[in-house]
Amino acid sequence: MIIQPKVREYICTTAHPLGCAQSVRNQAKYAQRLGTVLGPRKVLIIGCSTGYGLASRITALENCQAATLGIMFERPSNGKRTATPGWYNTAEFHHIAEEKGIYAKTVNGDAFSREIKEKTIQVIREDLGKVDLVVYSLAAPRRTDIQGRTWNSCLKTTGKAFTEKSLDLRTNQIVEKTIFPATEEEVESTIKVMGGEDWADWIRALKEADVLTENAMTLAYSYIGPELTYPIYYHGTIGAAKQHLHHTMKEINETWPDVHACISINKGLVTQASAAIPVVPLYFSILYKVMKEAGTHENCIQQITRLFTGKLFGPTGMDTDNDGFIRMDDLELKPEIQNRVKECWKAVTTENLKDYCDLEGYWEDFYHMFGFGYSNIDYNQDVNPEVTIPDLVS
Ligand code: NAD
Repeated sequence: MIIQPKVREYICTTAHPLGCAQSVRNQAKYAQRLGTVLGPRKVLIIGCSTGYGLASRITALENCQAATLGIMFERPSNGKRTATPGWYNTAEFHHIAEEKGIYAKTVNGDAFSREIKEKTIQVIREDLGKVDLVVYSLAAPRRTDIQGRTWNSCLKTTGKAFTEKSLDLRTNQIVEKTIFPATEEEVESTIKVMGGEDWADWIRALKEADVLTENAMTLAYSYIGPELTYPIYYHGTIGAAKQHLHHTMKEINETWPDVHACISINKGLVTQASAAIPVVPLYFSILYKVMKEAGTHENCIQQITRLFTGKLFGPTGMDTDNDGFIRMDDLELKPEIQNRVKECWKAVTTENLKDYCDLEGYWEDFYHMFGFGYSNIDYNQDVNPEVTIPDLVS
């Protein structure tokens, strides 16, 4: 099959197996160069196949030499359609782990379900005994809870409607976008999907099955962002869910004193989840330009390796703020960065887009997520879309 990108607004409906493999190899090489730290030995990563979860799995392998069990929700190729990028990423991750002789297994299925939690526990019992780190890195549009009720998340503001500049990714034009407030039900539903309830459900299930080591750690990822995006992010439906997640961290720590729950507030980056949020792509493309000019831009693997080797398991111990959060958004939120972003935000128009936005960088990251845009890959060559993941549990 000749596989070319097919982009529809903020999603690409095809993925290239060789390009995804290349992307995983590049991340692994980057992590490997940083050396090892004394970190976890056996890691469960819920949401392991793309974005921050994949970077966490690579870092656990390369910088901690840890065995990893991943949970993902990905689709294989049926011969006519390509697989999802997370499928190809995971296949390559397994090859790297195999080359190193380090355990890796992946469970493909709905992490919100009781069935996948039970299956995961069974694999831990049989293969690992216990795990000492659980990374929770899910980003999902919907959740069917264990009572069988389905909740949908939405990306809306709360309170009153909000109108702001936005980047139309189809035409590269600056447009005005109005985001209407969510109903109470929509806020509740988004909290159900992206809040902390399922994180706590996982920890409860793992504790009850006695598959966590004493003093095991669990880590979830969050985002706050600058005031500029508060109306759509932090004060929007997704922010309400993140605040629930933050509260869950305290709840887990109080309920299970021998489990250490923590949250890392990460930098805003183009991933499949974040590309879908209105207004945010314009902010990201300005931020990329400003941070690249300042020499402080980081991608997923750079964020997570800095987290693991510096702020989590580094020689100086865990580095948290007064709320107990690890601030990987420290460089993004520096006043000089945000002041410059605000200036660019005010000045940007369709005509001067290139002066203020790193559109190339935005699109490069976007295409790389789906395995496209690598100069050493010939995208006119026939390639087999059907890739097997060794040690897949489905
Ligand atoms: P992503 O879309 O790249 O990854 C989501 C992962 O979740 C994938 O591995 C996918 O397979 C898995 N997944 C989704 N639904 C699932 C289900 N039902 N069952 C099992 N697996 C499922 O997302 P991301 O941007 O890496 O986000 C991960 C976390 O990081 C989220 O909590 C997000 O809010 C947070 N975060 C993201 C950013 C950002 O800018 N991208 C910034 C800070 C924090």
